Amino acid sequence: CGIVGILSNHEAAPTLVEALKRLEYRGYDSAGIATVNKGKLGRRRAVGKLVNLNDLLVHDPLPGKSGIGHTRWATHGAPTVSNAHPHRAGCVAVVHNGIIENYRDLRGELSECGIEFQTETDTETVALLTERYITDGLDPVEAAFKALDRLEGAFALAFLFDGEEDLIVAARKGSPLAIGHGDGEMYVGSDAIALAPLTDRITYLEEGDRAIVTRSGVEIRDQHGALANRNLRTIQIDT
Ligand code: GLU
Repeated sequence: CGIVGILSNHEAAPTLVEALKRLEYRGYDSAGIATVNKGKLGRRRAVGKLVNLNDLLVHDPLPGKSGIGHTRWATHGAPTVSNAHPHRAGCVAVVHNGIIENYRDLRGELSECGIEFQTETDTETVALLTERYITDGLDPVEAAFKALDRLEGAFALAFLFDGEEDLIVAARKGSPLAIGHGDGEMYVGSDAIALAPLTDRITYLEEGDRAIVTRSGVEIRDQHGALANRNLRTIQIDT
């Protein structure tokens, strides 16, 4: 029910959890984060309150300066640890708000290729499709975009990749998503409130937009793939 992403110059995990706390008002049943550290994806997930995820991180820290986080309001699959986001397939981790309407068709197609599922969620198909396109030879951005072309429904998504410490791909269709601009850092959030302590400089994605986020900025493509110019606004939120 909430998404955050951070390309930071500091450890990402504590900031991700803080940002998720600011999305608590939306409600959730489980939460998780993923980071890339020394090129390797890692993740931690917990059912229930964010304090459970926090406790897990105290006992089993997740290093890395790049990461994505999620609070889940289950629509497909029970609120369990294995159904909690981020979902991972090979070198891709994905967080998702909303519903992938055609996930049954996509699951059918993937299982015909011999691919097995670890979860009951609609979201896992996005990670598996992207991973498949990377295995086919596409780079992470191309693979995520090609997977996005296949999706029907309403969603906000953020992707993180193994071996890519300076990249988050984000997309919006039917669910809002904001890009935050920091000082040599960049952020992604379901809303500006999540990012309020980090930055007040926000670009809102428009319907169908896809964003390639790196520490040096964001490139936004519209639903037809054309470069899109979206306003950078300075917003006011009481923190
Ligand atoms: N449909 C996804 C799931 O059930 C995402 C739910 C959400 O928006 O949190 O896992």
